[in-house]
Amino acid sequence: MKTILITGSTSGIGLGIAHEFAKTKQYNIVFNGLEPNGQEIADGVAKDFGIATMYSNANMLMPEELRKMVNDAIAKFGAIDVLINNAGIQHVSPIEDFPDDKWNAIIGINLTSAFYLSKAVWKGMKERKFGRIINIASAHGLVASEFKSAYVASKHGIVGFTKTLGLEGAPFNITCNAICPGYVKTPLVDKQIADQAKVHNMSEADVINKVMLLKQAVKEFVPVEILGQMALLLASDGASTITGTALPIDGGWNAQ
Ligand code: NAD
Repeated sequence: MKTILITGSTSGIGLGIAHEFAKTKQYNIVFNGLEPNGQEIADGVAKDFGIATMYSNANMLMPEELRKMVNDAIAKFGAIDVLINNAGIQHVSPIEDFPDDKWNAIIGINLTSAFYLSKAVWKGMKERKFGRIINIASAHGLVASEFKSAYVASKHGIVGFTKTLGLEGAPFNITCNAICPGYVKTPLVDKQIADQAKVHNMSEADVINKVMLLKQAVKEFVPVEILGQMALLLASDGASTITGTALPIDGGWNAQ
């Protein structure tokens, strides 16, 4: 059994990815997120799939909590083989009104937490000569959209961070890759639909068709299962030469 830690895995994409790993029955899963039913979610997956799980409510803005989560997981499972930095938040606002605290929270949660966690798992991965770090970036790690200055900065930042760890990890069979999804229907996106409707003064249906999926050639939300399948491939033993990449799964958004 290998052990995977997925941040922000008690909701949305993180939970969807956790399900794909759970189905293989080859991973212990460390769940994390701020949802009040996090422990219940972790217990449910353990029961449904017959695997071992644990749950931590470590806050991505608290480095001590992140280090404790990693240490607790290593104490329980012996090692962390795969780290998925997925927790993230969004805020949509024109730059002149963009709240300072939202900027700092977005950079802290979407980018800096990946630094703390990668650093915390690195030594063990290096010693065991195996490690897979997967960062859930975004199509916004590769291109920008207006009104998302902090998010786009954080996601471009994590793509750069990914490339650097790809290089540093190469001698130790530690790979680091970013997955760059287009729009996935999760609570984060549901909230954006409402926010964008306000900013653009449009109905929510128009926001989905005319703003969100406008830039995707494939006019469909990206299914979370396909992100899980990509993460499984990147986590596999055979994927040692895939590193330092930013892989768009975005319905052709970045082809334009
Ligand atoms: P979500 O809101 O459904 O889930 C986010 C998770 O992060 C939750 O479990 C939440 O508790 C956790 N989280 C937030 N702040 C935290 C904190 N301070 N400490 C610990 N956990 C915290 O969102 P999602 O859509 O599943 O997004 C997951 C990731 O995917 C994010 O990084 C997001 O930027 C990225 N992404 C999402 C989409 C999309 O369309 N949904 C597209 C591209 C990239």
